[in-house]
Amino acid sequence: MTPGGTSILVGIAASPGIAIGRCWAVDRRRVRTPKRRLGPDEVEDELARFKTSLEVSDLQLAEVKEKVGRADGATGTAEHTAIIDMHRMMLKDEMLVLEAQRLIRDERLNAEWAVKRAVRKIKGAFHEQADEYFKERRADVDFIGERIIKNLLGQAPDVDELPPEGAIIVAHDLAPADTALLLHERKVAAFVTDAGAKTSHTAIVARALEVPAVVGVGRITTLVHRGDWIIVDGSRGVVVVNPTAGELSEYELAREKFHAEEAELLRTRDLPARTRDEVTVRVAGNIEFAEEVPSLLSHGGEAVGLYRTEFLFLGRNDLPGEEEHYQDYRRILEALAPRPVTIRTFDLGGDKLPSGMRVHAENPALGLRAIRYCLRQPDLFRAQLRALLRASVHGNLKIMFPMISGVAELRAARHALEEARADLVRSGVPIAPDIPVGIMIELPSAALIADRLASECDFFSIGTNDLIQYTIGIDRQNKDVAYLYKPLHLAVLRMLELICSAARQAGIPVSMCGEMAGEPVNALVLVGLGVTELSMNGSSIPLVKRVLRAARASDGRALVARLLALTTADDIEREVRDEMRRRFPGLLGEVGPLPVGA
Ligand code: PEP
Ligand code: MG
Repeated sequence: MTPGGTSILVGIAASPGIAIGRCWAVDRRRVRTPKRRLGPDEVEDELARFKTSLEVSDLQLAEVKEKVGRADGATGTAEHTAIIDMHRMMLKDEMLVLEAQRLIRDERLNAEWAVKRAVRKIKGAFHEQADEYFKERRADVDFIGERIIKNLLGQAPDVDELPPEGAIIVAHDLAPADTALLLHERKVAAFVTDAGAKTSHTAIVARALEVPAVVGVGRITTLVHRGDWIIVDGSRGVVVVNPTAGELSEYELAREKFHAEEAELLRTRDLPARTRDEVTVRVAGNIEFAEEVPSLLSHGGEAVGLYRTEFLFLGRNDLPGEEEHYQDYRRILEALAPRPVTIRTFDLGGDKLPSGMRVHAENPALGLRAIRYCLRQPDLFRAQLRALLRASVHGNLKIMFPMISGVAELRAARHALEEARADLVRSGVPIAPDIPVGIMIELPSAALIADRLASECDFFSIGTNDLIQYTIGIDRQNKDVAYLYKPLHLAVLRMLELICSAARQAGIPVSMCGEMAGEPVNALVLVGLGVTELSMNGSSIPLVKRVLRAARASDGRALVARLLALTTADDIEREVRDEMRRRFPGLLGEVGPLPVGA
């Protein structure tokens, strides 16, 4: 590529649609703290450097405060600026300043290292306090420490600046918290990241908010500058930097075509997904925020099959309490009633934690996540369970526990729920009778004992994003192993078969809410396996419904039988694609349109 010339990059198609806009590059790589012992004559200079970094940090925060005030207008300003004021106060806090100065002077640490150590000490002190307030403050201390260190290193903390409307965010990687904040609060047009894979949470959020995204591009951050024109084709995983006039007009046409096809599909969105041989599959939506409900309904969603409640925690420095959860759940239940709403208890842990609550773990995906985390944090869990039970009278609630690994864990979770219920009943709080309680099947251990689990819960929901990760042993965030991420791997298919037959025998419904459910090419396989509900991001609903209406469940069953006799994932995929191509010409974007009247 010549400087300023066009370059075309290929990554993973993470969220469909085409966006054309100006690049807004943000650097969210964690700052690395250099460590060095000072010579005796360097101490005074280092103390001066530290003092300057505090002053620069304060000036930056004053500037951010002004910008946020202007961008927010009248609403929300007080709350945002109060946080910034608190951060400015922290820059003067004795615990931080005196401790860092002491470390520079007495232990002869360089300023970056001294700040890091001082921050750790303060966080440790907060940790010992049971008080929620102090726990919340740990995130703020981190935030402020990172700013000082970046200033010492001469790196401008560029997340301070708010992207203009219509910007295309380009980053090495985005934590779920960043994505939630950037995409949710600002009208950005698209995002592109060096890292990530199709089922990373950032990709899921982009799909949920219908923002085109390409992830796993590898090196885009080294190629673009703020203000460059970029085209993002989230349907094909292509990014064009500094496009030519010809490419611009070509993609403008493609964008129009995409919107026209979407509009056409929406015409039949409200017809039920009943196959030609009369098997009805409920097609539901996955949501991360209450604000997605209107879009879910306007795409023909018949229920909420998965509400990822942990997103209420992300992108903020404080912790929501019972009342905030209750109001949020109530709002969603009322908006959907009488349609069912499956609310999943917090899948917190790993990178899904507010920054101040993250603890280092070598293998976060195998660590204290989801139900394990909640059972270890009974106060947090109780607050959510109480909020859920209180909200149950406002609609058709189903409660679901994530990452259940065995029967004992399911019993422990149910016990916590029963305790919360008993408490509320004692206080005379009304609760809906017979709230179904289900579990996510997303661990191989759960799939293998699905028959035992089925007799102790009311429904299953298959989380293929994690089930595939744990079955094949590949990090779902890691683009280097994304090529192994095969929903139609024989091992996965066998597990799905096992789960669905256990559910059938126990007479309980089985949903699928992983990304596999929203891929139209899988629809026939899934109805053949006997999945009774498919839950996906809103924009996938109309097409999946249309495919199901044109399908026969009996053909799906025959297809599954053939697939189970094959061996490699490639052979299985080919068989599915051939079958779908034959039955639904045009579905895979090759020839002719899908039968419209289906
Ligand atoms: C899954 O694992 O498939 C799932 C739906 O849960 P999440 O993507 O939130 O881990
Ligand atoms: Mg999961």
